[in-house]
Amino acid sequence: MGLNAITTSVVAWQGYRHKDIGVLVYYDSSKTSMLPIRAASVADPNYETKTCGLYGCNASQHRTLFVKNKFGYLFFMTKYQGKNAKLKDKMIITGYYKIGSIADVQKAHMRYVEDNSCYCEKICYALKASVNEKGESDAVFLSDEDAYVLNDAALKMLGIEKKITKATKVKLDEDITKKLLKKFEGKENKIADYISQTQANSD
Ligand SMILES: [Zn+2]
Repeated sequence: MGLNAITTSVVAWQGYRHKDIGVLVYYDSSKTSMLPIRAASVADPNYETKTCGLYGCNASQHRTLFVKNKFGYLFFMTKYQGKNAKLKDKMIITGYYKIGSIADVQKAHMRYVEDNSCYCEKICYALKASVNEKGESDAVFLSDEDAYVLNDAALKMLGIEKKITKATKVKLDEDITKKLLKKFEGKENKIADYISQTQANSD
């Protein structure tokens, strides 16, 4: 696939100013791990590089709208398929990025990504998490136990009325974004474990 040719260092990242609003998107997760890491068949969320839309090009139009409307937070949900029996088939929110930079990666996608969704677009944005004052990335992923289960109360809080599918993208206003960020407070960021387990995963 030549994906190794795309590295974050050769991509021309530019600073990104945004509003404190968010979007919740779906990803396929692994069947073979306890942590809801992404399935080997999908490229995002690429927590290794704290990016989305760099190594894979799913829904490029959606990322264009994300940037155009100055969304700031990208939250990730999945239907859990992993080894924690209590969570089997439950929809959970596992992590988020606060976006700090963007890059037009259309040329790289045209060259290196098969099945890219941007071949007839004008632009294709990759999104990258910001770095906070402590030098840590604003990219948080929770353990399976700490993930936020989308039960009826959670769906109501998020204003989700329709059935969630892989194509679901939920826009979150400032108030709801703030409430959802609170669900991550006081919980341990397990992103390093997501990264190591993803490297070992092949399902
Ligand atoms: Zn693309």
